[in-house]
Amino acid sequence: MSQPILTLDFLDQATAPATEQLPADVRVTEATHTGRSRRLYIESYGCQMNFSDSEIVSSILFDEGFDTTTELAEADLVLLNTCSIREKAEITVRQRLKEINAHKRRQPGLLVGVLGCMAERLKSKFLEEEQIVDLVVGPDAYRDLPRLIKEVDNGQRSVNVLLSREETYADITPVRLNSNGVSAFISIMRGCDNMCSFCVVPFTRGRERSRDAHSIVREAQDLFVKGFKEVTLLGQNVDSYKWQSADGSEFVNFAQLLERVALVSPELRIRFSTSHPKDITDEVLHTMARYDNVCNYIHLPAQSGNSRVLELMNRTYDREWYLDRVAAIRRILGPDCGISTDMIAGFCSETEEEHQDTLSLMDHVQYDMSYMFFYSERPGTLAARKLADDVPLDVKKRRLAEIIERQQQHSLIRSQMGVGKVHRVLVENVSKRSTEHLSGRNDQNKVVIFPKKHYQKGDYVNVLVHECTSTTLLGNAVE
Ligand code: SF4
Repeated sequence: MSQPILTLDFLDQATAPATEQLPADVRVTEATHTGRSRRLYIESYGCQMNFSDSEIVSSILFDEGFDTTTELAEADLVLLNTCSIREKAEITVRQRLKEINAHKRRQPGLLVGVLGCMAERLKSKFLEEEQIVDLVVGPDAYRDLPRLIKEVDNGQRSVNVLLSREETYADITPVRLNSNGVSAFISIMRGCDNMCSFCVVPFTRGRERSRDAHSIVREAQDLFVKGFKEVTLLGQNVDSYKWQSADGSEFVNFAQLLERVALVSPELRIRFSTSHPKDITDEVLHTMARYDNVCNYIHLPAQSGNSRVLELMNRTYDREWYLDRVAAIRRILGPDCGISTDMIAGFCSETEEEHQDTLSLMDHVQYDMSYMFFYSERPGTLAARKLADDVPLDVKKRRLAEIIERQQQHSLIRSQMGVGKVHRVLVENVSKRSTEHLSGRNDQNKVVIFPKKHYQKGDYVNVLVHECTSTTLLGNAVE
């Protein structure tokens, strides 16, 4: 039987986010029904790290008698795990609190709390600014949630935003939320010691600390036994992972950790995020090359293509260093290795020529995908204190549009490199747009869609790709 040929617009629809009221990047916890007395409703905003934290919070509260629900109207406790990376992220949370206030008026006993980076940035000011909020808890204080909820139950609004130099939640088994049962996040470290001048993370997530390597390997083994086929190792800067045993006899850096997790099983795929250009070593690249189950994909934020701007950003590397790291990736992992990045348009005093340097860096690297934003000044950061946010908004937007357009061209070129080749795809789900098709990702983190035949979620399938868009590869399974 010949394979059905899908039209291209099917592809675009297939990767479009499903219809939800909430913004596309917001995730609501799936329900658990174990007959516990109270129900938690948690929304996660922003990065994978925040989502992984919501899994830790759900685990802590599960032990405190909270089931989770996806229905706001059923909740006894509503938690928003917030992001503060850009002004827009905070505006979204304030808007959401207004909507939740409508529920609270109908259900006066409803408890409302805010977690994450915005909670840490605003601290008790959040209570002054948002009357609906009963609870403000920073990223390092989630163990204190049970005590704080008791205080709120007794009528007292509560705050704990203490940052820690030790906390890694290593002993807490996350409740896997919204899980497809195939891929899961493992947080390997917390905080960040870099001080990029535009970034709030060092202030909202504190100093860097690496988690016990053995607890990470145990979590990967546990997930594999439970049928998961892929783990993503998470950290703000995974390349600076370094753990030493209490007696000092054992020291593990990121390359060594990667190897230990890769040895769990050749059937367990390993991804990681986020890398840092100044710290990514050839040792890490050679470890990736040695293990087929470590995916051939690296997220390597550049932020800008101009060395003067990179210095103002306090990124601690320049354009030449960055390109040298990309050359090492291409040399050790080959031209097919997927590379994605973060780019900021219109940073303080960026000139038109310096913007052109960003475009030419993109031409040189040809990224598979990028997260692209215009500069949003964040209170309390080095840039906000020392540098004028002097690039006009219309210029920021025009430069961002040029970066996005360039990226779309490169994404298509990179996708076309996959046409005519066989890709090993890990099936994650039935395609959103057709129950006759499956969706998964290849080694380079590209989405691949193909007719399902007898395959199912969790299978590794060899797919011969015959067509693509800038975001998705289209093919048929080959034995
Ligand atoms: S590396 Fe820089 S941009 Fe990334 S979290 Fe740390 S301070 Fe922020």
